[in-house]
Amino acid sequence: MTSIVDWKGALMLRQILVPWAMPEVGREVLRRAKVEGIFIHGPRGEPPDPIEWTRKLLEADVLLPRVQKISRKIMIVNPNLRGIANYGVGYDKIDVEAATQLGIPVTNTPGVLTETTADLAWTLLMATARKILQAHQFVQSGQWERSAGKSFLGLDIGPGGSNKPKVLGIIGFGRIGQAMMRRSRGFKMKVMTYDPYKKATIEKTRGVEYQDLHNLLKQSDFVTLHTPLTRETHHLMGREELDLMKSTAILINTSRGPVVDEKALVSVLKKGKIAGAGLDVFENEPKLAPGLSKLENVVLVPHIGSGTKDTREQMAVVAVRNAVAMLRGKKPPNIVNPEVFDSRAYHRRLGT
Ligand code: NAD
Repeated sequence: MTSIVDWKGALMLRQILVPWAMPEVGREVLRRAKVEGIFIHGPRGEPPDPIEWTRKLLEADVLLPRVQKISRKIMIVNPNLRGIANYGVGYDKIDVEAATQLGIPVTNTPGVLTETTADLAWTLLMATARKILQAHQFVQSGQWERSAGKSFLGLDIGPGGSNKPKVLGIIGFGRIGQAMMRRSRGFKMKVMTYDPYKKATIEKTRGVEYQDLHNLLKQSDFVTLHTPLTRETHHLMGREELDLMKSTAILINTSRGPVVDEKALVSVLKKGKIAGAGLDVFENEPKLAPGLSKLENVVLVPHIGSGTKDTREQMAVVAVRNAVAMLRGKKPPNIVNPEVFDSRAYHRRLGT
């Protein structure tokens, strides 16, 4: 066990609180590091009662959350908390501003889930364009005849019979956005991207055109979202932006639900103002906007972007490595708020 002697001379155990069912490989990394984990979750891996895990937080030195919202109120429960190691690359559920003020480092798990999430986004793109779910349900219900009134005529992803390349609009040209660009190459697509923070990178990237948001939306056959959820990207795709899309275009969202105004999306889908949407994330998970689940031109999956066994395991390994580093007062590999290390609040917390 990792232990330290506190100022009173008492032996203190160092512990990491994991309020979810972490894969075995992550637990193994903890064991090898000789760090104790406090694991709490329901018998089938379901998230524990928030009261129970916040009570346990008092005993922990580092918190390793998965889907839990971590507010300032939670952070101040334990004045000895040395870090928050988020399981996932998106850390919008953590109040990072408050963590920095309180001197708490926050980490995430970038990289290991890039390809898996892009795979899911691409699956949604193809399934929506080719009406795979509707066709599947049709066959599964014992039907086959076209005379049933269904044609399942879809939209091309590749150049199609007319040999006309389709336009992929990527919003957010980070790790996952770039992985989408790589996938598009096999489909001979024209790629446009919007990411004001990556303009220089985009202009240097072969076969990619920088566009402002409105022009990208007007020209794309597929629009795929890969930004983090921030104050700036909340409802980035609002009514006005959705209205700019082509009536034949498809929207894919594997970023975060609130990046899209879901009510406005239902409205444009109902009116046929866009052709379809493939969604992994929703504005108020697990609730869907009224009418969304009844639409025919959508493919909806329950936030499974990074959901493969291999990737989820590697995310656990990365999260645990971050947690162990913070527990030992070292700089973790994937810090989100590096400025915290220079703060008095951090040094006070660690007693350094
Ligand atoms: P990243 O940080 O590598 O890329 C994000 C990109 O978005 C950056 O290039 C950034 O400059 C850009 N960006 C920021 N604000 C923008 C704005 N206002 N307009 C346009 N672009 C903007 O992150 P990543 O690893 O590619 O992941 C992206 C997001 O995907 C994560 O933050 C997470 O929320 C989400 N995600 C979801 C799943 C899932 O299971 N559905 C899995 C992994 C990641």
